[in-house]
Amino acid sequence: MSNIVAIVGRPNVGKSTLFNRLVQSRQAIVEESSGVTRDRHYGHSDWNGKSFTVIDTGGYVVGSDDIFEEEIRKQVDLAIDEADVIIFVVDGQAGVHVLDEDVALILRKCKKKVLLGVNKTDIPSKFGEAAEFYALGLGEIYPFSAMTGTGTGELLDEVVKYLPNDTTEDYSDLPRFAVVGRPNVGKSSMINAFLGQERNIVTDIAGTTRDSNNTRFNAFGMDFMLVDTAGLRKKSKVYENIEFYSVMRSIRAIEECDVAILIIDATQGFDSQDMNILRLIERNKKGMVLVVNKWDLVEKDSNTHLAFENMIRERTAPFVDYPIIFTSAINRQRTFKVLEMAQKVYENRERKISVRELNDTMLEIINSQPPQIASRGRYLKIKYITQLKSPTPQFIFFCNLPKDVKDNYVRFLENKIRSIWDFHGVPIQLFFREK
Ligand code: GDP
Ligand code: GDP
Repeated sequence: MSNIVAIVGRPNVGKSTLFNRLVQSRQAIVEESSGVTRDRHYGHSDWNGKSFTVIDTGGYVVGSDDIFEEEIRKQVDLAIDEADVIIFVVDGQAGVHVLDEDVALILRKCKKKVLLGVNKTDIPSKFGEAAEFYALGLGEIYPFSAMTGTGTGELLDEVVKYLPNDTTEDYSDLPRFAVVGRPNVGKSSMINAFLGQERNIVTDIAGTTRDSNNTRFNAFGMDFMLVDTAGLRKKSKVYENIEFYSVMRSIRAIEECDVAILIIDATQGFDSQDMNILRLIERNKKGMVLVVNKWDLVEKDSNTHLAFENMIRERTAPFVDYPIIFTSAINRQRTFKVLEMAQKVYENRERKISVRELNDTMLEIINSQPPQIASRGRYLKIKYITQLKSPTPQFIFFCNLPKDVKDNYVRFLENKIRSIWDFHGVPIQLFFREK
């Protein structure tokens, strides 16, 4: 599902406050379960049963409070290109600002749905009422307060009206793979390598989302959808190479897929942008195959690939249980292996362990290596384990003191699960609940 809502506006109008409010509850759940740090500029939200990704475009384009018209323009252009709905935030206390007029001018011409949110209505306006913002020519205005939450419900009611319903329904049966990565790592070349074996392309079917274009691959015993990515689109935009753009594309593709094929460039190593995308995959609980491409360009001896693998896994720890494949997309070396692996990871992600098998195996391990004394002299006892029927592997451990389970014991249990059943390439979650 890829519904994207972008928040735009000049600095200090309250974009990030609104953003934080919208993503709060979901984000808290993610943090609790995996301990990952929160990301500043994008996150999930849901309202009235529709889920969507919220992006604070301002957070990306400008680094300081000094904003130039050009920066605002970039921010708004990105939002227009990528979002389904745009929330244009203005400051109701400050009144109409000249930069608001500039933004309105661009937004009035675009075809996307724009909602004008007048923030800070919790304090009396210096310039009269929110009504003056009608002058921006964007239709209805939505007064709200990002700080207190007043009016945000009405704004969201309106936002979700313009989001497509379920964008993935049509393909729900087929595995969905996405090729993601930074610009120039070889995504297009990889996709060409997949599809180049001409007869394999069954058909290009138009997706149910307005601009998605998924390709079905059906050959060699495989049948899956290749989710639209940067590589499948023509490259024309001037901002093709900025990080924001590739992150935005990655978010969309990752959200729509079951398994992400993350490509990195062997000549560049594994850098922080690669890491950001990997964390995004992990946080979204998608399967992952990591591909080190342009391997033909690397001078190597018998140890090189192992050293490379170790370097990557060290950096991505504690998530280390995923396949790494070394390819040359232009020479079509091991490119088919990438697809086979993606298929395998897809199956792993679907894996369900029966209650009986889970308890027989895990309780024995727990009994032979019980957790340390918990707190206040009480022992932690795990009584029963079950796997949820969720789309990604989630296990519930019923116990007497769920809050006292230590991180290292959680990790121990996860490693045991991974050593017994095959969850290679798949983020799994362990939850502890009181029976
Ligand atoms: P951004 O630069 O657009 O992301 O703006 P911020 O979210 O950082 O907010 C700028 C300032 O406005 C901060 O000091 C916020 O506390 C304040 N602010 C944001 N929303 C509200 C609101 O609803 N009411 C009031 N009174 N202040 C707000
Ligand atoms: P994208 O931006 O990730 O889609 O990357 P492209 O597929 O457009 O590739 C970027 C550049 O790297 C192009 O010049 C490709 O020819 C080159 N390239 C891609 N894969 C390989 C590879 O496996 N080996 C080598 N030597 N070059 C590659």
